Amino acid sequence: MSEPETDAEGGDETVTSPTPGSNLAGSNQSQSGTLISNPIIQSQNINVFYGDEQALQDVTMDIPEKRVTALIGPSGCGKSTFLRCINRMNDLITSARVEGELLFSKKNVYDEDVDPVALRRKIGMVFQQPNPFPKSIFDNVAYGLNIQGYDGDIEQRVEEALKGAALWDEVKDQLDKSGLELSGGQQQRLCIARAIATDPEIILMDEPASALDPVAISQVEDLIADISETYTVVIVTHNMQQAARISDKTGVFLTGGELVEFDDTQKIFENPEHQRVEDYITGKFG
Ligand code: ADP
Ligand code: MG
Repeated sequence: MSEPETDAEGGDETVTSPTPGSNLAGSNQSQSGTLISNPIIQSQNINVFYGDEQALQDVTMDIPEKRVTALIGPSGCGKSTFLRCINRMNDLITSARVEGELLFSKKNVYDEDVDPVALRRKIGMVFQQPNPFPKSIFDNVAYGLNIQGYDGDIEQRVEEALKGAALWDEVKDQLDKSGLELSGGQQQRLCIARAIATDPEIILMDEPASALDPVAISQVEDLIADISETYTVVIVTHNMQQAARISDKTGVFLTGGELVEFDDTQKIFENPEHQRVEDYITGKFG
């Protein structure tokens, strides 16, 4: 868990963001919600529509750097949609339209001069179903480096990424084997190795453990804790115990694409401000 951040009292519906560009470390001037001293992502009034259907409503939240932020909520409430806003994966869905600002290190990723491909190199993504390429373990991890035309020591980078993903010891003697021959849990760690090989700043994970068996789940959870010392992790999970175990901050989305509450994970699980959040967390619905 993180060290304490600048907190502020307030039971409002809204989570107030610090003004972009201001340094709020040590400040306690918030009106409501929770201020974060080192946000790497600032979502400001994000609305997403698929055609005429609105999937996210005015989502405002600050995501702290080098911490684990969990997004929870019932199916269909917009968690994946929000994750895809961060690295502009929604661009790839023709019917999707995004309004509002999404700042990454104070720069709106929706500005015209932002190249989404370059953005996704800095903001990697791991999905629910492990999706290694039908290539060798080595080539899976080297993939992004090759695309970038990386001219350093690729073997060393692959080794570092596999070590970072806690997979090296299991595969170091079989790097030529197909990634598809690994177990599900190993495949997911391979995908995490692939994501970290290009040295991103943020790793988005959309239910990365929900297709795995219990042993693999706990390995992936340990890995998330490890990598959050180096990277910012934003993880969608419908497993509330998992969110409580691994995250520093938790955002609760409820029906209608509304971010109902965002706060320290402990606060969300022990003493949420909103009855609806408490009902969801205690299993009364969802
Ligand atoms: P969650 O990840 O919380 O289950 P999603 O972000 O996948 O929720 O979906 C939020 C809403 O947006 C749902 O109503 C869903 O049907 C809709 N939606 C998601 N993806 C698409 C898409 N590609 N096209 C149209 N509607 C979509
Ligand atoms: Mg989803």
